[in-house]
Amino acid sequence: MSHFEITGHAQKSAWDANEIPPVEEVRPGLWSIPVPIPNNPLRYVLVYAFESNSGITLVDAGWDTDEAWGALNAGIATAGGSMTDVTGVIVTHIHPDHYGLAGRIRDTSGAWIGLHPADASLLHERYEDTDDLVSRMGNLLAMSGVPEDVNPDLATASMQVKSLVHMALPDRSIEDGDALDVPGWNLNAIWTPGHSPGHLCLVDPDARLLLSGDHVLPRISPNISFHSQQFPNPLGDYLDSLAKIGFYEMDEVLPGHEYRFRGLKARADELIAHHEERLVEIEQLLAQDDRRTAWDLTQELKWSRPFNSMEHFMQRMANGETLAHLVLLEFRGRVSRDGNAPALFSLK
Ligand SMILES: [Zn+2]
Ligand SMILES: [Zn+2]
Repeated sequence: MSHFEITGHAQKSAWDANEIPPVEEVRPGLWSIPVPIPNNPLRYVLVYAFESNSGITLVDAGWDTDEAWGALNAGIATAGGSMTDVTGVIVTHIHPDHYGLAGRIRDTSGAWIGLHPADASLLHERYEDTDDLVSRMGNLLAMSGVPEDVNPDLATASMQVKSLVHMALPDRSIEDGDALDVPGWNLNAIWTPGHSPGHLCLVDPDARLLLSGDHVLPRISPNISFHSQQFPNPLGDYLDSLAKIGFYEMDEVLPGHEYRFRGLKARADELIAHHEERLVEIEQLLAQDDRRTAWDLTQELKWSRPFNSMEHFMQRMANGETLAHLVLLEFRGRVSRDGNAPALFSLK
């Protein structure tokens, strides 16, 4: 039986004290480097550095600010290396806190960048030529029933993070089951779509470690949103990916945020249960009152903080999350929709 247990004790103490955790050597030659994300409840991303005779391979990169760049350089120095030793950057997914600095690392060291093709194909419209993406987001919010006066603020809410990514196309495509080129380690990719279409976890069955990116975190439930840069049923994919990852029970999970833990299957089951409860909650709201918009339902659902106190970007993520649940209920034949501007959802 798998049971959940925190193993990153220094990280957990730092979390409780609202501090950035230390750089740690997790296994001989494997380092955990916290890279700060200022003004964000996630606080930091955990970058992992694998040492070998031929250089350093990083997993994830942090976002592109001078503070993050400084922290990453200092962390690599603590590990006894330097940025110019980096030969590869494996990125678990496209989000700016993981991808942002990859290009700057490549510019400095000549390292290759590896990403799943489903995320790589989204980079251009997400970080370079964003007009089309913003207009599709505006349409999606109108379909959700977001009032016209707040729609533009929500539609453009993610553009502030554009500057936190050094745009760089990957050099290598990493797909499900690929063995990764990390000398001295037996790292293999596991494709876990849901949080993003091309999200990757990495497993080393010899070292008995699994790097979970944002797919499974010990404390929070990662955002699963429906939007135009997702597959048609992202929550369905996410639940399948949770079931899939549950088969890879290792000694320790190294997540992209928060702290290390063991009990991957137990945590994955908890996340599955959380979403199933959420689906029931939405069905109950629709049973009270049908022909509701996603935006109505979003405001009525319970969130970790009051909806009205959330910033635009958080409100948009909450709406995307509600939509992902509604879409899964449609796929399951529990809910139907009428119209498109806005779409009205009812129980079947
Ligand atoms: Zn993410
Ligand atoms: Zn993240």
